[in-house]
Amino acid sequence: MADGSDFAVVGGGIVGLAVARELLARHPGSSLTLMEREPRLASHQTGHSSGVIHAGIYYRPGSLKARLCVSGARELYEYCDERGIEARREGKLIIAADDSELSRLDELERRGTANAVPGLRRLDASGIADLEPHARGVAALQSPDTGVVDFRAVAESLAADVRAAGGRVVTGCEVSAMEPSAGGVELRHGSSSIHAGFAVVCAGAWSDRLAVSMGAPSEPRIVPFRGAYLRLRPERRSLVRASIYPVPDPELPFLGAHLTRTIDGEVLLGPSALMVGARDAYRPWRLRPRDLAETLSWPGSRRLAMAHWRAGLREIRHAVSRRAFVADARRLLPELTAADTLPGPAGVRGQAVARDGSLIDDFVIHRTGRAVHVRNAPSPAATSALALARLIADETEGG
Ligand SMILES: Cc1cc2nc3c(=O)[nH]c(=O)nc-3n(C[C@H](O)[C@H](O)[C@H](O)COP(=O)(O)OP(=O)(O)OC[C@H]3O[C@@H](n4cnc5c(N)ncnc54)[C@H](O)[C@@H]3O)c2cc1C
Repeated sequence: MADGSDFAVVGGGIVGLAVARELLARHPGSSLTLMEREPRLASHQTGHSSGVIHAGIYYRPGSLKARLCVSGARELYEYCDERGIEARREGKLIIAADDSELSRLDELERRGTANAVPGLRRLDASGIADLEPHARGVAALQSPDTGVVDFRAVAESLAADVRAAGGRVVTGCEVSAMEPSAGGVELRHGSSSIHAGFAVVCAGAWSDRLAVSMGAPSEPRIVPFRGAYLRLRPERRSLVRASIYPVPDPELPFLGAHLTRTIDGEVLLGPSALMVGARDAYRPWRLRPRDLAETLSWPGSRRLAMAHWRAGLREIRHAVSRRAFVADARRLLPELTAADTLPGPAGVRGQAVARDGSLIDDFVIHRTGRAVHVRNAPSPAATSALALARLIADETEGG
């Protein structure tokens, strides 16, 4: 690998690839190297998501998520259209199972309206039955603009754009250390290093390590949360036409286990949200000593576990019992039984947690000298990637 570049991007997930594309569009003719440690791009969160293009309902008005999800979804649909990547506006329902959830549904409606989510409307029980005949609830929000896509295909297409603009995308290349150097940043990988005029780190579940080593604030830290799915048996997929979501727990930044018809026609139930001992815990009980030690020694994770022990116990129950996982989903889809499901895929969220134990909801970006670090890019960062990339590229300007 050459030892100099105007820009270096660490991380070949959808955010890093979108940032690389944006930087080359702003600085035509400059040199850029994107380094991904895995042999394949999009091997972590980007390749293990629900594949939902979110419309922007849930997020606090004024937050980065609210702004960037609505514009990011619009741009993503346009991008997929231009590149011939299939993206379907299937729509979704967020269903209140009983009256106790109505005030939270009202709040979601307020947020969605404030965020200018297109086409949002309220349904009663018969409106739910018209759209999802097997679902039950007292009221729902319908979002016709929510869709599905294969984010891995989007990531591959962004990588092709980067190469076409003269950038280099290098896989199997882990950046082990970074340090400021004259006029830029030195990034070490294996036994070599590369000098970049500016570096952007989009390292997903590993984002805190390089950031803290470069002098960024010590918090937030990443705590990995495994999200497991069940698949519906092919003959039972007709239970779900598009996407059925619960009203989420307002204490947690996760959207709750939902039923989604994916771009390839499968129906998935999930994801769960279990704190785990490895940042790549695709198998449930994988432990990595360094990951585990970092989670246990971070005061935020202990405070989080104490504050949310009930939710933690529920997630453990779901991890060990398919029946328990399905029982929760039956509140919205009463005909579903454990026998209708098969084991499904899993992803691991890189969720930022503050020292006081709060789960950081919004995107977080820190700058240290001539580097920008994306410290928290959870859902809907895949949906928002094109818009988020512009914001991150803005951070590289000046200074
Ligand atoms: C279960 C699950 C479901 C989700 N569902 C949705 C959804 O439906 N819709 C949505 O919009 N979002 C969803 N998300 C969130 C979305 O997947 C992420 O927000 C998004 O993919 C983040 O992209 P990223 O590029 O930041 O991270 P990643 O895709 O994780 O990429 C980070 C990359 O950095 C690489 N890397 C790390 N450290 C180094 C290093 N030192 N050197 C080189 N490379 C390094 C990693 O190998 C990885 O490939 C979901 C996430 C999960 C886990």
